[in-house]
Amino acid sequence: MQGEIAVLTIDNPPVNAGSHAVRKGIVEGIQAAHAAGASGAVLIGAGRCFVAGSDLREFGKPLVWPELPDVIAALEQAPFPVVAALHGVALGGGLELSLGCDYRIAAPDTEVGLPEVSLGFVPGAGGTQRLPRLVGRALAIDLICRAARIPATRAHDIGLVDALAEGDLLEAAIAFLKERRPKRIARNLTPPNEPDEAIEAAAAAALRRGKGRPNVAEAIRLVKASAGDAQAALADERAVFQKLRLSADAVALRYLFFAERKAASIDGLDMSAARAVTSVAVIGGGTMGQGIVRTFLAAGLPVVLIERDEAALAASMEKIAANLAEQVRKGRLDTETADARKAALSGAVDYSALSGCDLVIEAVFEEMSVKKDVLSRLEAVLSPEAIIATNTSYLDIDEMAAELARPERVLGLHFFSPADIMKLLEVVRAGATSDAVLATGLKLARKLGKQPVVARVGEGFIGNRIYAAYRRRAELLVLDGASPQAVDAAATSFGFAMGPFAVSDMSGLDIAWAMRKRQAATRDPKARYVTIPDRLCEAGRLGRKTGKGWYDYASGKAQPDPEVADLIEAARAESGVTARGFDTQTIQRQLLAAIVNEAACLLDEGVAQRASDVDVALTNGYGFPRWRGGPLYWAYQQDRAALRADLDALAEAVGPGRRTGPVDRILDQIEIPQEG
Ligand code: NAD
Repeated sequence: MQGEIAVLTIDNPPVNAGSHAVRKGIVEGIQAAHAAGASGAVLIGAGRCFVAGSDLREFGKPLVWPELPDVIAALEQAPFPVVAALHGVALGGGLELSLGCDYRIAAPDTEVGLPEVSLGFVPGAGGTQRLPRLVGRALAIDLICRAARIPATRAHDIGLVDALAEGDLLEAAIAFLKERRPKRIARNLTPPNEPDEAIEAAAAAALRRGKGRPNVAEAIRLVKASAGDAQAALADERAVFQKLRLSADAVALRYLFFAERKAASIDGLDMSAARAVTSVAVIGGGTMGQGIVRTFLAAGLPVVLIERDEAALAASMEKIAANLAEQVRKGRLDTETADARKAALSGAVDYSALSGCDLVIEAVFEEMSVKKDVLSRLEAVLSPEAIIATNTSYLDIDEMAAELARPERVLGLHFFSPADIMKLLEVVRAGATSDAVLATGLKLARKLGKQPVVARVGEGFIGNRIYAAYRRRAELLVLDGASPQAVDAAATSFGFAMGPFAVSDMSGLDIAWAMRKRQAATRDPKARYVTIPDRLCEAGRLGRKTGKGWYDYASGKAQPDPEVADLIEAARAESGVTARGFDTQTIQRQLLAAIVNEAACLLDEGVAQRASDVDVALTNGYGFPRWRGGPLYWAYQQDRAALRADLDALAEAVGPGRRTGPVDRILDQIEIPQEG
């Protein structure tokens, strides 16, 4: 007690996850405050944050009293007002708990949000009812369905947080509470009036983004119902939550949640060996270099950009500045932040500008000789402790680092395009990479807001290697009789963000063409080879950038093109193939079989550490549907005999030169968190 105010502190390190013990403690705390004659109570978190969310480990099992709605009922029955004092994060059940209080006061750097939809269910303790009563239904639909995390300053602007606390949070909360009466959001408030069109527009956008997943539709329905009777809607919300938390989507997404946490670590690696990274440099300001610079600047790190000459440097710096201006124009960035980022960037052509950098990442041309030259020049100017990272997509990092005096300082940091948007970061552990350097890479990934996955050196590491096998299977399906649009449609109806041919057109067919030319001399002459993409490139059809590729883009949209159909027919005739039909399911299962087989090969070789890491890579970097948990999780759910039949069909279609992965053995090693 502080005077007449009871202070209830949630203390469940590291992030105050809302476990059974925490829920029980709050109910008991409220009862004790009542017994002590308190005139108000503050609910506050100890340590890093208020409450980072409910404890997901409890979600696959029957929930034990008191559940979160019981805790909120106890708060609402108290004869005094309760204020939630937020700092760090208040997410999911944590934010719902605070919405069950009468008021919320937050430290300015707090982040709040309801991420439940991204985990396959809906907020289940009043989030869909109390949030719209404070911020309106259209905005509530948007925030809940995007699983958005917003800063407290914005939460204050929209009425979700009542006050921002400068200085001591507890003192501010007590002072705030002294002048308040109970408010009881669900009982006493109704959502503000809004035009129906605004609500419908938010709902339509959310459904589109949510790819029609059932929990998105339910979240929208529940928020709309907040205009009616609160008690009925709260009961409805709880019933939907109870059903959806055990749905296939939710179980898969929970698996992925734990897989992502595991992927950011290596068993036995001492993370405390990680070095501080306070100033970085990027060598090469092309497509990737610019994106990497933007990523570092967004994380608040000063960056030096090096290009090969003044003209190239000026062009890169201009593009980065233009991108920042564009972000401001679109309202994604305020002018002050954009100016601060611009000020944190400097450019140079001379490597002497790098002497104070802790970490340098090269993103120059994908040429071994160019990379080697850059690395040796770096070693000459950097301090012995400074780390050198390469963004190479395919090259052998061991070879790249072999001639350096300190190869242990080199690792791969493989970003995906666009680097500031894509979540995945492959952290490549080369043969000589030291533990401290690896730990630094993993810690840096988190600082940059990326999802790290550790890979060993090997052609295409994890993601690109699997993707190459998938694309090859897609091309063979076309050679054997499917149309590119049928293959793309099968992939998107499975849930991929885009089909393989639409992706090729977007990224440009010439990159893979150059690689095939490089590999021509070493290719197994007996292996089946699909000439169609070569013919497309020879005809100048390099994808979207030339207006034509697998599709024609003259109308602005991807349209099938008779010229491509003729090229495909000619390739079939040339290879002596008689076209046959493939149904959607066969196409999907063959694409999946190719992914699963290649994943098993690279796991067998030790390129990836764990099966779940492959799932993390494919869902975070390659548009694999998250709600399916990833390709190996998907395979694990399948009937094993049916999967084996798919793998046999794959082996037959790929023909000579194929590699067969130990799929059964790999799937037996998958760890699925205990459910039910
Ligand atoms: P890019 O051609 O757009 O850019 C390369 C830049 O490096 C150019 O601006 C060039 O002027 C500069 N450069 C070349 N030699 C240099 C040197 N010695 N010193 C300083 N600057 C130099 O290429 P990109 O697409 O940005 O690819 C860069 C690297 O990133 C490659 O290794 C590539 O494999 C890898 N990568 C590319 C992608 C992608 O989608 N484009 C994705 C992941 C990784």
